[in-house]
Amino acid sequence: MSDPVVPRNYRAQHLWQASGWQEDALLGVDAAGRCAATAAGPVDDLGAWVLPGMPNLHSHAFQRAMAGLAERRGGGRLPSGQPHAASADSFWSWRETMYGFASTIGPDDLKAIAAQLYVEMLKAGYTQVCEFHYLHHQPDGTPYAPPEAMSLALVEAAREAGIALTLLPVLYMSGGFDGRPLSARQRRFGHALDDYQRLLERLRRHECQDLRVGMALHSLRAVTGPALREVLEGDIARRGPVHIHIAEQIGEVQDCLATRGARPVEWLFEHADVDARWCLVHATHLTDGEMRQLARSGAVAGLCPVTEANLGDGLFPLGAYLDAGGGFGIGSDSHISISPVEELRWLEYGQRLVTRHRNIAARHDGDSVGETLWRGALRGGAQASGMACGEWREGARADLIVLDETSPLLAARDQHSLLDSFLFAGNTPLVRDVMCGGQWVVRNFVHRDEARIAARYRETVTRLAQH
Ligand SMILES: [Zn+2]
Repeated sequence: MSDPVVPRNYRAQHLWQASGWQEDALLGVDAAGRCAATAAGPVDDLGAWVLPGMPNLHSHAFQRAMAGLAERRGGGRLPSGQPHAASADSFWSWRETMYGFASTIGPDDLKAIAAQLYVEMLKAGYTQVCEFHYLHHQPDGTPYAPPEAMSLALVEAAREAGIALTLLPVLYMSGGFDGRPLSARQRRFGHALDDYQRLLERLRRHECQDLRVGMALHSLRAVTGPALREVLEGDIARRGPVHIHIAEQIGEVQDCLATRGARPVEWLFEHADVDARWCLVHATHLTDGEMRQLARSGAVAGLCPVTEANLGDGLFPLGAYLDAGGGFGIGSDSHISISPVEELRWLEYGQRLVTRHRNIAARHDGDSVGETLWRGALRGGAQASGMACGEWREGARADLIVLDETSPLLAARDQHSLLDSFLFAGNTPLVRDVMCGGQWVVRNFVHRDEARIAARYRETVTRLAQH
């Protein structure tokens, strides 16, 4: 899907990997945009501080364009300026605003919004994104021609921006735990099982080095027990990552208990073979037993701390989960912030506020919080993406970020303190250059196509606001 890469050699003064720092590291990139052994020829200097790029394991791209439109008490404001009725502000009232906004978006709009979002992700240090995509059909539920038009809009947007994409088409079948039909505003999300499996088959034909196709179950309230069993037993579900929203809200836990006699994570583990292919997004409300079961399973907890804070979801039990050996990654989810630094900072600060202690993610004396968080999110994000990424090793994607060594924020920093300063020294952008799949997509803080993509985005959201 990407342009051919010219094989090259690079040198990093300091390369950080999960195993630690390497000085004067020589890095080769092959014609497929993968990490390779260095070959004969010139060597380009990357700079002082080089890190693997971060996977973003949870995204609903269209929501980027409604950031800031649901922050007024008594219900959000639609792009048209029309208020809508809402009771106490919560996740559920936010969802009404989101549904209203979603009803205005077609394939070209989605492509314009997603391309802008992906440019912002790359500039922030994300080099891969998992798109949890449920905006499948026309607003009245009629399929587009072709039926995968909205999915392809995301694929094209990722190609324009130059970010690696794991597309996770979402199975969304019912409007509640009791199996009720989809509401009018949910109709464009829905599929019968056969149609969903056909959608996956059609999309898998597009898979390449930069595009992986997995699957997603929207949530237990959107997929009944029999449907979950049937889709997981099908051939189509036997490869690629599987993502699901789960236990994000107390109301969701209560409804699951009332209708299925078990809490969501408990119920899922009883009815599915949850293993390392799975990513449980949010998993906020866990008993100790559920937390340990999730950690043991090898699945990834998909944490989206800034969105979870924005929506008032609750706090994931990070310290105990890390002690139990659990894996996690981060996602920007509703996109009220596009920054792995802010996600990881909030992940740590939420824990500090509730425990009234510091340095929670670091579980042993002397451990660095910044290194622990970046390492964990790289590993879990790569696993949830189903791609070979998140580390510099032969055969993996050549994705890296180069920090601005001239920034005052990094003055007098050394290997010991670099990651902590990157995460905990403020909001001045520090990601100077970004390579994705062996291609430079950001140089000196500027994305290769950002002016055109931003102009199209402005035109699109202006038109949507006039609906
Ligand atoms: Zn989500």
